Amino acid sequence: MQVIKNIFPLLNQPKQVVITMHQKPDGDAMGSTLALFHFLNKLGHSCTVISPTNWASFLNWMPGCDKVLDYESQGNKSDIIIADADWIFCLDFNILSRAKRMEEKLKSAKAHRILIDHHREPQTEVFEYGNSDIEKSSTAEMVYDFIVDSGNIEKIDTSIGACLYAGVMTDTGSFRFPSTKASVHKMVAELMTRGLEHSPVHEALFDNFLENRFRFIGHALLNKLEVFYEYNTALITITQADLLKFNIKTGDTEGLVNYALSIQGIKLAVVIIDRGEERKSSFRSKDGFDVNTFARRYFNGGGHFNAAGGFNKESLEEVLLKFKEAIKENKSQLSTYQF
Ligand code: 5GP
Ligand code: MN
Repeated sequence: MQVIKNIFPLLNQPKQVVITMHQKPDGDAMGSTLALFHFLNKLGHSCTVISPTNWASFLNWMPGCDKVLDYESQGNKSDIIIADADWIFCLDFNILSRAKRMEEKLKSAKAHRILIDHHREPQTEVFEYGNSDIEKSSTAEMVYDFIVDSGNIEKIDTSIGACLYAGVMTDTGSFRFPSTKASVHKMVAELMTRGLEHSPVHEALFDNFLENRFRFIGHALLNKLEVFYEYNTALITITQADLLKFNIKTGDTEGLVNYALSIQGIKLAVVIIDRGEERKSSFRSKDGFDVNTFARRYFNGGGHFNAAGGFNKESLEEVLLKFKEAIKENKSQLSTYQF
């Protein structure tokens, strides 16, 4: 993988560009791809953003979101665009399998694949160019760097600003995680100088849920939360019946894992959701517990040191057994807090 600045001299030659992100895109995945979309369009490229799957409706306010293709429902159209592309930007994921059913098309495309991402252990051999940096708060911050480093800061407008802000704000837990370096605040100051209004972004993302989601969270915390004090671990298990009962849609479960992590003394918080086709897990940790390694070892996943995810094809019962074995195996690292 060559350093990304090697494509800067090529940015003034109009290209067919596909920009994609991980399945079930979150604020950073959608915000960073749409910011890059607006930026590259301004430079004269012809861009299409393709999401491997659908996304949470609380992302729909983002400028350009109405033009994003959903590979699950618009696969044929997407395949033609992917096959014709000169460049495919892969944002906020670093192994092609996270693009799910799009993976094979991304692999066989004639385009150069370009990585911009901040997760651990990238599959660097499949990217011609890229920037992979686990120190970065968000992929949105990296897209900002891409714009600035290529000498185009003046191209940042309110659309790009809102998308970048949504990405960096959601991935830093509203600027609270240790990844929130001075560079993050400097970037936000620059976006505000260029017209960003931050309050509407918070409202659009966090004050837009339906009543059923809160009833569901109440149910999950009251009935589905287990605390394993011996392991400083909290687990929330969600069945398909729970999802159906509360009419849970993509995005409604986001943030649930943080309630479990905010219990005093908890080092590892986990949500396991039976989505039917697979069992999806979310891991969050505090202190020195590495959930990237934990998710990779037991749950076919990965991510960051303190936030990771995974998926299993086994039944929910089997995944729960595996989880209980896994915390036993990691007991010496987990059991350091005295309740
Ligand atoms: P979440 O729990 O919010 O789904 O994901 C937490 C972090 O782990 C995010 O940065 C996300 O991109 C990453 N992640 C989630 N699921 C997976 C997975 O199955 N594989 C890998 N490699 N990363 C994941
Ligand atoms: Mn991210």
